[in-house]
Amino acid sequence: MTPSPGSAERPLRVAIVGSGPSGFYAAEALFKVAGLHAQVDMIDRLPTPFGLVRGGVAPDHQNIKSVVKVYQKLAENPGFRFHGNVRVGKDVQVAELDQCFDMIVWAIGCESDQKLGIPGEELEGVHSATSFVGWYNGHPDHRTHRFDLARATRAAVVGNGNVSMDVSRILLKSPDALASTDIADHALEQLRRSSVREVSLLGRRGPAQAAFSPKEIEEIAELPDVDVVVRADEAALDEYSAKWLEKQARSAQRNVKFLSEHAALGEGSKPRKLRARFCVAPVELLGREGRVVAVKVQHAVLVPDSTGTPRPQMLDRFEEIPADLVFRAIGYRGVPIPGLAHDERKGIVPNDAGRVLEKVGGAVRTGHYVVGWAKRGPSGLVGTNSPDSKATVEQMVADLQQGRGVLAPSATLGALLQQRGVDAVSWQDWTKLDAHEVATGSARGKVRDKQPDVEALMATVRTLRG
Ligand code: NAP
Repeated sequence: MTPSPGSAERPLRVAIVGSGPSGFYAAEALFKVAGLHAQVDMIDRLPTPFGLVRGGVAPDHQNIKSVVKVYQKLAENPGFRFHGNVRVGKDVQVAELDQCFDMIVWAIGCESDQKLGIPGEELEGVHSATSFVGWYNGHPDHRTHRFDLARATRAAVVGNGNVSMDVSRILLKSPDALASTDIADHALEQLRRSSVREVSLLGRRGPAQAAFSPKEIEEIAELPDVDVVVRADEAALDEYSAKWLEKQARSAQRNVKFLSEHAALGEGSKPRKLRARFCVAPVELLGREGRVVAVKVQHAVLVPDSTGTPRPQMLDRFEEIPADLVFRAIGYRGVPIPGLAHDERKGIVPNDAGRVLEKVGGAVRTGHYVVGWAKRGPSGLVGTNSPDSKATVEQMVADLQQGRGVLAPSATLGALLQQRGVDAVSWQDWTKLDAHEVATGSARGKVRDKQPDVEALMATVRTLRG
């Protein structure tokens, strides 16, 4: 009798595509299932692991980045293999993964960004927060992006989430305070030349609905050169928001308290300002000679929708907020993978509680599962992905126990990649590269040195292999 997938004789062969938090938490959940023997092959298009923790979490938030220690420990499991520098859809097709694995978990996050969809978005000086974040983090996709920081004195950041906090803080913080982090060298160099002294943070709703965490805005207020400036009329809550706030998490109440206290402080005397604006929705980006010069906003009042949630209702009142640089930080979107269904409206992989669908509203696709942002959309902190991935793994185990959801592999990924001459980065390769990045960084007084060019990274990997 052939042993069943998941037994000691025939471990369950699982591919996890993507090596960010949701991918690692899926591996952890699989390894923890009692009685299940799993072989996990984690695939990443980059030569380096850790997804958003490496390429998204801000360089001055090393405490958040330290979560990789947990992932490194997981990777020591004998059933774990890493294949970096392997792009699904190019080096290997989705249909070929079906021939190599029993189950496939998509942990591909949301790598693109939402557009504002207003006139002027194509002007020079208008950027996505995604590019800026990737750029300062040394993400290979964004290394060649140019931000004209030297000729800008005022920037505007659209959106009131934690990404807008990261972007605002990096723009306003002293570069000296970033020098010892793992910030990309090209970014530090440009930030040293930056003339940005003022950032307008544009929220389309009020202080009670701000999506940022209190400690993020508090961190900006603690910067030695920066005043957080809030207009008293915009800090004051409307009657719906005041009632609504009573039922919200403590973090929303802490934000409101912080913002109203700052409204009382006025302009302050520090040389750099974060102007937190509320109930202002961008309607147009204004330009001169092809460059952005201002954000035209429409003022709004908040009115409850059918669920009682305060939503902006536009007033016939407009304002032009000067800005030489504009960053949209209004959320992320998934990028479609050829051979895998994509929900264009939500920007995610269509799924039923983690089981991938053939198409939006379609049947479940055998053997395919999804975790993290690609499953639920771009929400939550790093740790949110742990229970989320565990929930998908529970569906996988339930399907396995019921004899469904398993593909019938007849090939192996390693052999396929070798046949094609794909130079995949193993976990051993990464361990060496990791030590190299830390050593070269340390020699220059930095946490680590990141090489943002894939070719150069691969050259280092090959040298380190000896
Ligand atoms: P987010 O938390 O969803 O915030 C998006 C913001 O954009 C909201 O304020 C939203 O306002 C606004 N927005 C959306 N469409 C808009 C439009 N057309 N015009 C104006 N404003 C618009 O998203 P995020 O900041 O990208 O963060 C993604 C996730 O990563 C979040 O869960 C975040 O907490 C997490 N993250 C955490 C950290 C950290 O812990 N340090 C750092 C970065 C990111 P409405 O509320 O009105 O829709």
